[in-house]
Amino acid sequence: MKELSELIRPNILKLSPYSSARNEYSGGEAEVFLDANENPYNQPFNRYPDPLQRQLKAAIAQLKGVASECIFLGNGSDEAIDLVYRCFARPGIDNVVAIAPTYGMYKVCADINDVEYRPVMLDDHYQTSANRLLAACDDRTKVIWLCSPNNPTGNSIDRGEIAALLQRFEGIVVVDEAYEDFAQQPSLRRELHNYPNLIVLNTFSKAWGCAAIRLGMAYARKEIIDVFNKVKYPYNVNMLTQQHALEALGNVYDVEKWVRLLLQERSVVMKSFADLPCCEKVFPSDANFFLARMTDAQAIYDYLVGKGIIVRNRTNVELCGNCLRITIGTKGENTALLSALRNYGER
Ligand SMILES: *Cc1c(COP(=O)(O)O)cnc(C)c1O
Repeated sequence: MKELSELIRPNILKLSPYSSARNEYSGGEAEVFLDANENPYNQPFNRYPDPLQRQLKAAIAQLKGVASECIFLGNGSDEAIDLVYRCFARPGIDNVVAIAPTYGMYKVCADINDVEYRPVMLDDHYQTSANRLLAACDDRTKVIWLCSPNNPTGNSIDRGEIAALLQRFEGIVVVDEAYEDFAQQPSLRRELHNYPNLIVLNTFSKAWGCAAIRLGMAYARKEIIDVFNKVKYPYNVNMLTQQHALEALGNVYDVEKWVRLLLQERSVVMKSFADLPCCEKVFPSDANFFLARMTDAQAIYDYLVGKGIIVRNRTNVELCGNCLRITIGTKGENTALLSALRNYGER
């Protein structure tokens, strides 16, 4: 890859970050804190939270097998996605390449940051290749976005092609692993030491069941994490979120149980979909949702809304014509969906 200093925007490279009171004094022994203009009353909400979330990172480091200094925590993975643009892509000059279709935030953040976005269509099996992605790059391509398992298609992207891309591309490769806990393959975060240009995204919003607290992770080598920390808002993860995440990390067995349940249900629901007269094809899934090609996605979507059941209509997404994206719910929710669909067309 190129030197990191060639990839980082010049203004970010020379930025001296805001130094908060909690950055300047972060020792443990003091008892009198008169440095941050906080109100001494209303504990524990009166104090600014740890800007680097050290306790929480230590717990995540232990569970995920990644050094604390290689972890960035943000207000959802959405914050990390935006930071990738703000740190690496010069507005109006640089571009990024991404698989398509994929998660919509990569494009939205490109547009907000005035960075050209170059989608590269997946093939009929929703796969891509290093060659095809590299062919879309030029010397102003700073970042390639991959999502694996991919949203909305549900499948994992071929690991050999990702490895080839990481070896051959000169810039940053982001692999969004929001659905990693539901997949067969091990996470790429285990291979960070092999790839200096790799950023892996993960989130508390899916397997961890914590979408409401807004907590996302980025794993990368320390030099990249240091850049993110320099650019982020000083107190980007609030105290309530840090506390709740620490609690959740103490209940790993809950998460493992939910994942097992959801995978069982996924297989039941996918099999049942395959037998529905209104379903033409069920695509393979490594996530807690799957994509299904229907006879008439719009009509079926509207029918389900009428029954109080909301799925995601992806029919207007390229390569997803007549497709619905179905999130796996509880047994009861899945049964309600299936019985509604079995009655579809018999009105
Ligand atoms: C749901 C999802 C996320 C989660 O984003 P948060 O901001 O962490 O809630 C990230 N990436 C993909 C591909 C997703 O589908």
